[in-house]
Amino acid sequence: MEQTRGNPYNKGMLSKSQYMAYLHCPKAFWLFRKRPELISEPSAHQQSIMQTGHTVGARARDLFPGGSEIPFLPENPGEMARRTRYLIESGCTTIYEAAFIHEGMFAAADILHWDEGSWKLYEVKSSMSLKDSYVLDMALQSWVIEKNGVSLKSVNLINLNRGYTREEELDLGELFKITDLSLRIRPHLIPIEENIERMKVLLENTEPEREIGMHCLSPSECPCHDYCWRTLAGVPVESVFTLTTTRMDEKFELFNKGYVSLMDLPKEGLGKAQLLQVEGKLHIEEENIRNFLAKIETPVIHLDFESFQQALPEYPGIKPFQQIPFQYSLHIEEGDRLVHKEFLADRESDPRRVLAERLIEDIPEEGTILAYNKTFEKSVINRLAARFPDLQPKLTSLSERLYDLMEPFQKRWYYHPEMEGSYSIKKVLPALVPEMEQAYGDLPGVHNGGEASSVWQNLPSVTDPAEVEEIRRGLLEYCRLDTLAMVRILDILRKV
Ligand code: SF4
Repeated sequence: MEQTRGNPYNKGMLSKSQYMAYLHCPKAFWLFRKRPELISEPSAHQQSIMQTGHTVGARARDLFPGGSEIPFLPENPGEMARRTRYLIESGCTTIYEAAFIHEGMFAAADILHWDEGSWKLYEVKSSMSLKDSYVLDMALQSWVIEKNGVSLKSVNLINLNRGYTREEELDLGELFKITDLSLRIRPHLIPIEENIERMKVLLENTEPEREIGMHCLSPSECPCHDYCWRTLAGVPVESVFTLTTTRMDEKFELFNKGYVSLMDLPKEGLGKAQLLQVEGKLHIEEENIRNFLAKIETPVIHLDFESFQQALPEYPGIKPFQQIPFQYSLHIEEGDRLVHKEFLADRESDPRRVLAERLIEDIPEEGTILAYNKTFEKSVINRLAARFPDLQPKLTSLSERLYDLMEPFQKRWYYHPEMEGSYSIKKVLPALVPEMEQAYGDLPGVHNGGEASSVWQNLPSVTDPAEVEEIRRGLLEYCRLDTLAMVRILDILRKV
C-alpha cells in the first residue's frame, strides 16, 4: 500500500495515493485523513524505495527531453494546476508533473507529451513488473486529466526492462520498457466517480470497521498496522503470527479459531521447529553438530560481502537491481591464530574486478570458507566468475569450498528460546553471543547491511574528505564485526 503521510493534500484535497488506499482498505484511507498521528513513519527501506523512484523518474524524462516541469507546491495544488493549464495553452509539448484537479481529486502525471496531434500520458515506475495497482493508479490519473478537457490518445507505463544488461553506455531506449495500458485501464474508469463520492461520504462519518487480514500485509505492510493489530485487535508482539515455518493463511486460520498467543497453541500437529518455538526451551543435538563441525577443514575462513544494487546500472554487464559487491571481510582461523583481512573498493570506479582479484589473493588455497547463508556469497562469487572468464577457475573453486554456518540453526540442531523461532543471524547472534549485540549498537556509523548499502550508494554526494573517511571507517568496522560474529558463533558450536 502506498504511504500517504506527508501528502500535501491530506488536509483538504483527495489524491491519487488516498484513492489507492481507499480501494485497498477504506479504513486505511479514513485513518490517513483523520488520524495521521497513527501512521508509522516510512522505514529506511521504504525511504530508499521512494528515493529510487525519484531517481528513475528523473532519468525517464530523458526519453522526452526539453520539457517544462511543474514545481511541487504542497500548499497550493491549485497553482500547480493553473501553471499546467498555462503550459498547455501556450503550446508546450512536454510537461513533467503535469497537475490536474477534478471533483476535489488531485493527480499529477509524470510525463504528458504531445505527439502527432494528441496528448499521451506516461507514468514511470521503478519496478520490472506490471502490477495491478499501476493500472488502477493510471486509470484515476487519466480520468482526472480527461475531465479537464485534455483528451488522451494513450496511457502508458514506463518501467525497467528485466532483460536489459548495460553495455559501455546506458541505453535508455533499452533500459526502459513502454507499455500501452489504454485498454487495460478502461474498466477501472467506470467506478471512479462513485468511489470519489464514497470517499467524501466516508470522511463525514466516524471510523469505519474493518477486520485485520491479509490485506494488512500485502502487497506491503499497512502503515496503520500497529494501531489495528495491537490496539484494536489485541494481537501481542509474540503471537501466532510469529509462528515459524507457517504460511500466513495458516496463521490467520489459527487466529480466527481463537488462538492469539503462542502459548495458547495446542502442541499436536506442530512440526519440530514450531514445537521448539512454542516450548521456548534450549535444544541441542550434539551428534548433528559434531558431524557438521567434522566437515570443516582448517584454516577456517569466515567470509562476508557487502553489496548494493541500482535501478539504473552504473557499470557494464549489470542488469537493473543486480547485486554489486563492493566490500568483504575475512577472519581466518588457523590453530590459535585469528587473522583479519578486508577490502573496501573506491566509490569512483567499478568495484568488481579489483574485489575479485583481491579475494583470490586473500583467501588461502586450502580450508573451508564459511558464510552465514551461503546462497548470497555463492551467487556473488559465481557472478564474478561469469563476468571475468580469466578468473573463473579460481573463483569457481572458492565457490565450491563454501560451507553454511546457518545450517545447524536452520535445521534446529541448536535452538535457543531467544531466537524466537528464527535462524537469521540477527536473532542467532544476540541469543548466543549477547555481548556482540552491544558491539553492533556501539558502532559509530553503519549498523546493518541496508545501511551499508545505502551509505555506499550515496557516497558520491559526500564532498568533505573527512566525512568520506569516516563513512569508510564505519563500513570497514561493520563488516569486520560481521565475520567476527561468525567466529564467535562457531566457537559456541565447538563448545557443544
Ligand atoms: S491495518 Fe489492515 S485493517 Fe487496518 S487500516 Fe491497514 S489494511 Fe485496513
